[in-house]
Amino acid sequence: MIIVMRAGAAKREKEEVLDRIKELGYKPHVIHGTTRDVIGAVGDEREKRVVIDAIASMQGVESVVPILKPYKLASKEVKREKSEIRITDSLSIGGSRVIVMAGPCAIESEKQIIETAIAVKEAGAHLLRGGAYKPRTSPYSFQGMKEKGLKLLAKARKASGLPLVTEVVNPESADIVAEYADILQIGTRNAQNFELLKKVGRLKKPVLLKRGMSMTINELLMSAEYIMSEGNHSVILCERGIRTFETATRNTLDLSAIPVLKGETHLPVIADPSHATGNQKYVAAMSFAAIAAGADGLMIEVHPDPEHATSDGPQSLTPKDFSALMKKLRLFTDAAGREL
Ligand code: PEP
Ligand code: MN
Repeated sequence: MIIVMRAGAAKREKEEVLDRIKELGYKPHVIHGTTRDVIGAVGDEREKRVVIDAIASMQGVESVVPILKPYKLASKEVKREKSEIRITDSLSIGGSRVIVMAGPCAIESEKQIIETAIAVKEAGAHLLRGGAYKPRTSPYSFQGMKEKGLKLLAKARKASGLPLVTEVVNPESADIVAEYADILQIGTRNAQNFELLKKVGRLKKPVLLKRGMSMTINELLMSAEYIMSEGNHSVILCERGIRTFETATRNTLDLSAIPVLKGETHLPVIADPSHATGNQKYVAAMSFAAIAAGADGLMIEVHPDPEHATSDGPQSLTPKDFSALMKKLRLFTDAAGREL
């Protein structure tokens, strides 16, 4: 439910409401507004009526309304204005600027990641991506450089000045990944790994949540809710293509998910045209389309030598092609009334 405090309600009144919510077995989440605070209270839906009545009569409370959507904290019912997620002092996602994350699928060597980091930075990327822990379809495929890869990522950050987004594949390695990453990525195969979602929900790092390849939009928002209900509200959603009957592309980029999500949630939404298409030929076109559809950013795979990449070579752009894409992208961000 949503508890709307009166404008100018006393601090003590708010504290009493928070205490009462906890006493009733609910978890409060304070959302600071410009004129008043709103408290989202989430818990056992069956007890909803009792809790609403108990809180509505308290001092400082203007109104209490139930949240109708199954996802609560992610929903626009709780927060109407867009969330801008802070990544570093000078970078946020969800504002007017379109944010581009670029880099290889996997970290392979010091030379590869540093060369790529410098190239994508020069082309105008805002974050460096690269997997140190790789969830692969085959147990015989390269599984990533793990901690060694994280150390190389840190070197690449130093060399390029770019913040890092990298994947976390299980709760056991989440703390170590969080020591290095500026954004924790949850991949498509883990998008409903609820123990992992709860774990990153307890960490103090923004989370990039990719849509499961067979997940509905509603299920994606429920996964975001898992993270947020643990206290971490810095969630960025990513449309990365879903499984359909079509085989001409690796997945089908569900472009309409972008405006649908924008209507349902205050969280930023980005698109990953690389995993969506699986083919470098289509990455630029789908990047432009995603911006037209309202995406707040893009995640694009770039490799200095795609033919010899350990993973996802066919969908990786060369630094030169990425640079050309970035130049053209500006036309689309301008048309959308956004900065790049
Ligand atoms: C990746 O970003 O390299 C990746 C594995 O993505 P996804 O989980 O979307 O397949
Ligand atoms: Mn990949």
